[in-house]
Amino acid sequence: MRQKHRGNRKGNTPEDCKCGSSLCFLTGERMNYGQVFYTDTANGIGCRISLFVSGCTHHCPGCFNEETWDFQYGDPFDRSVEDDIIRHLRPVYIDGLTVLGGEPMERQNQAALCPFLKRVREECPGKTIWIYSGYTWEELRDRDNFRCHTEDTEDILSMTDILVDGKFVAEKKNLSLRFRGSENQRVIDVPKSLAKGRVVPSQYGEPGHTIHF
Ligand code: SF4
Repeated sequence: MRQKHRGNRKGNTPEDCKCGSSLCFLTGERMNYGQVFYTDTANGIGCRISLFVSGCTHHCPGCFNEETWDFQYGDPFDRSVEDDIIRHLRPVYIDGLTVLGGEPMERQNQAALCPFLKRVREECPGKTIWIYSGYTWEELRDRDNFRCHTEDTEDILSMTDILVDGKFVAEKKNLSLRFRGSENQRVIDVPKSLAKGRVVPSQYGEPGHTIHF
């Protein structure tokens, strides 16, 4: 089981934390992010806020975002960033939040994302959540997969509308695909997949699907 708020090498404990964030330099749990797009129409349906988190262990050949492999890249994802994203999610013209990277489903990033997504669900009702992960649906749901299945994984998936899964494979690159870069990747309807216990592809990944704003 993941240790929560275990403190850091300087001996700081959760009681020392003043930021109130679920992830904190003092308590030893943290995530960095590279950038936030506030009106993104490329990474999901409609107009979205896109959060690019830092850290990725997949190292896919041909990756378009190599600088984000480093977990230290960018800035700390702290409470003020959470607040800023939540504020920008509220307007009616924003359809939802997309989380990509980097790899949102690396273990330490899941620990940071889970409480943030809970805030999004509670404070921004009606907004959809998309996640791009290099891990596959099967890997994420495999309880024996220490690399990407954590105590937060099922909670994160239960809050997710669409998962675009799988690593980018340069040999399978296809520019005509919707919302993904290579043919092995899937656009998954997460609520339906959880309900049926198998991968249910989303209509949004289909070539002929028309987007209605
Ligand atoms: S999963 Fe994404 S960010 Fe990570 S190496 Fe592959 S393409 Fe790059």
